[in-house]
Amino acid sequence: MYDIPFNKASFVGNELRYIQYAIDNWWLSGNGPFTKKCHNFFTTRYSLNSCLLTVSGTAALEMAAILAGIEPGDEVILPSYTFTSTANAFAIRGARLVFADSQPNHPNIDLNTIEELITDSTKALCLVHYAGMACDMDRALAIARKHKLLVIEDAAHAIESTFRGKQLGTIGDFGTFSFHETKNVMCGEGGLLLLPTSEFSSRAEIIWQKGTNRMAFHRGEVKKYEWVDIGSSFLPSELAVAFLYAQLEKLDEIQHRRIAIWSRYHQEFKDLEAAGAFRRPEVPEYASINGHLYYVVLHSKKDRDALIAHLGKQGILAVFHYQPLHASPYFHTKHDGRELPHAMMFSERLLRFPLFYSLSDTELTRVIDAVKSFFS
Ligand SMILES: *Cc1c(COP(=O)(O)O)cnc(C)c1O
Repeated sequence: MYDIPFNKASFVGNELRYIQYAIDNWWLSGNGPFTKKCHNFFTTRYSLNSCLLTVSGTAALEMAAILAGIEPGDEVILPSYTFTSTANAFAIRGARLVFADSQPNHPNIDLNTIEELITDSTKALCLVHYAGMACDMDRALAIARKHKLLVIEDAAHAIESTFRGKQLGTIGDFGTFSFHETKNVMCGEGGLLLLPTSEFSSRAEIIWQKGTNRMAFHRGEVKKYEWVDIGSSFLPSELAVAFLYAQLEKLDEIQHRRIAIWSRYHQEFKDLEAAGAFRRPEVPEYASINGHLYYVVLHSKKDRDALIAHLGKQGILAVFHYQPLHASPYFHTKHDGRELPHAMMFSERLLRFPLFYSLSDTELTRVIDAVKSFFS
């Protein structure tokens, strides 16, 4: 029905070759040669103390919540306009979730509203860099330091994006990436926990390996491996990681193409914005773009839905995004009743256009022409 989908999994080179290689070497479970290659890749590229691949971005967030020591009754502040995983990671630890609104002109959390939400029970601030666009990390860290909060960056959208030149996910206490099929680099399902400092790294590898000191055992530091802490099976299979490594080899190429598509949308829609058709994404002076997703914000839900329908008739799939979590079926009875109007507004009026590595220039032009025809 849609000949231009919203997202398409893209193969970029050695995926099948590396999976074959993993099979030929009989190492299919986790923490094998491809895992080490990926860990080295990220540690070097982003100057990390360490990192750990996980079965999903969700799992990386769950690890961060355990490492942050979140316990029943602790409060965590996070945006309402995000994916459920951001919230679930803390909810399953028994945390009380305190949802904050988006900025009036950006889906990211409004840091102006944070301080009044902080209580003696607040333990952590979880930020989401929506569309790969940085939150103001100087401001977030200043608030966190003042109130002794840990900062978790959900950087699922934000690989290769920066705040004042610093890679997102490496600025707070913990960062997480996702390699879900819809993200810039992917392996079907996968994720990464980024640890910028050494503070949490030894406990992290235990939690990663089902609560055992298996990593220390492999390094010859202990004679046998035992149950030493809580944990889970957070590590991915080498089959998924082999696929991921092939994508990482082409990271620059993928980014180049995605940013070119993003920039073309942005350029082509300039006049429509000037004519009042919609608002394009704002890029703060401290942020860079990573071509993760391109969105516009329409005047009303009616306009947004009409544009989705108009594009759909031409075989183009455009989509809306998050339903605010504070108003969700699971959470609305637990929410403290504060109105979060900007999160609601982005839920009703934001629209995302097709953006993936293999989207051709011809297809891109078709999408742009279809949008222009809607407003002419
Ligand atoms: C994709 C995503 C996640 C979860 O990642 P998975 O790899 O799908 O588990 C978490 N947070 C945000 C903002 C995401 O977009």
